Formats: sequence, structure tokens, C-alpha cells
Amino acid sequence: MKLKVIGCGGMWNKEFSACYLIDDCILIDIPNGCCKQLLLQNNNISKINDVLITHFHADHYFDMPFYLLEKSKNESSDVNIYCSKNGKNKIEKLFKLGFPSASKEVLKKLNIKYEFGNNFKINDYEVFKVKVDHGNLKPAYGYVFKKDSLTVGFTGDTAYCTNVDYMASICDYLICDCSFILGNNAHMGINNIKILAEKYPKCKFITSHMFENTIKEMEKIKLKNIIVPCDGKIIIKEK
Ligand SMILES: [Zn+2]
Repeated sequence: MKLKVIGCGGMWNKEFSACYLIDDCILIDIPNGCCKQLLLQNNNISKINDVLITHFHADHYFDMPFYLLEKSKNESSDVNIYCSKNGKNKIEKLFKLGFPSASKEVLKKLNIKYEFGNNFKINDYEVFKVKVDHGNLKPAYGYVFKKDSLTVGFTGDTAYCTNVDYMASICDYLICDCSFILGNNAHMGINNIKILAEKYPKCKFITSHMFENTIKEMEKIKLKNIIVPCDGKIIIKEK
């Protein structure tokens, strides 16, 4: 797996919002401004056929209309969207709002498939989703990718909950919400990540969705299995 950080920040700082690209073709979340950010980092949007959405907050899916419009210009019109059941309606509404005259033609041209299930395959990966606890926003999901002996998880936005422990217990790498210095009922914080890193020494924790103060504070934490990424970095390169 090749895992590139498109963005590791929260929505108010200069780091781009949390977004990750697997093997140049699978995108985890599609925040506002994502297509521009992908281009700035020299990624090829036309190669991306699979988009997984953790939950429906604007900083996780608002660039979907731009992505769909871009894909409609390509030869390959296959688009697979993995999300909660209410996602199809939200995405279509957003597209129609953004591009009212083009929406009908573009949505017809594209071969969009929605996957609402909990277990599926993407390329050679076995993927499953787990429910997480993002306060009032329900449902919110994390995703786990498995191929051969490598297991990589994404918590999405979440408070510290049982399924975060579960993901940490099975993953080699866990890309995890670390929005704040102290976690709350919707997001994890450095205090939670420190506990996780000590409890699961075999898992490498890659902090994500970090706000500015959190990034500064993270520089002081020296735990071998915590990785603080930056935008544009390739953080996993394993067969
Ligand atoms: Zn959120």
C-alpha cells in the first residue's frame, strides 16, 4: 500500500482538511477544496475511482460535485462511492445545487455505484467499516483496509470509543482523529492518542484532523509509535 496524506488538518488551519489517498486511486473523504489540493500535489484525479466517506460534514464531502464533474470528462466514468445510506441523496442534492444545468447529463453519463454495506472489496483490499462516535452526527464510520499481512485503519472523526480500541488492536497503522489537545464527545485529543499508543505498542498511530495548537503540542510528544504527518507526505509505502 502506498498511502499519501492529502490533508492532515482541521478545517480552520492552513493544513488541508483530513483526506488520504491510497495507491493513487482510492480516496478517503473529499473535503471542500479537495480537487484543487489533489492537483497542487500532482495527483491525477481521473485515476480515482473509489471514494469512501466517513461522515457527512462539509469538510469531509463538499468537493464531491467538483470530483464528479471532473470524472465526467474522463474516458473511464466508473465511480464507486462508499458511505452511509443517506449519502446518495445528500450527494445528488449537493451536485444539483452546485451545477444545476449540468447535473442531469453528468449524473447520467457517470457510472456511479453506491456501496452502503459493511464489508466490501476494493482492488485487492478487503475493506470493512466500523461505527464510531462523532457526537450528534450519526452515523459516522471508520474504515479498515486489509491486504496480506498489512492492516490499515482510518477512524474518521470520532471521540474515544470502543471501536477505536478495536481498530488499534488489529491495525499496523491507524490514521486517527487527533483534533484537539484534550478529546471531547465528538473528537479525540492528544490525551487519547497517548493512551492508545501505550496500550497498543504494535500499532503506529498517524494523527489527523489536527488543529493548529494540537500540531504545535504534538511536537513535544516523543512516543515511538506516534507519527505526526504533514500534507503531501507519503506515510506508508509497503508491498
Ligand atoms: Zn465531522
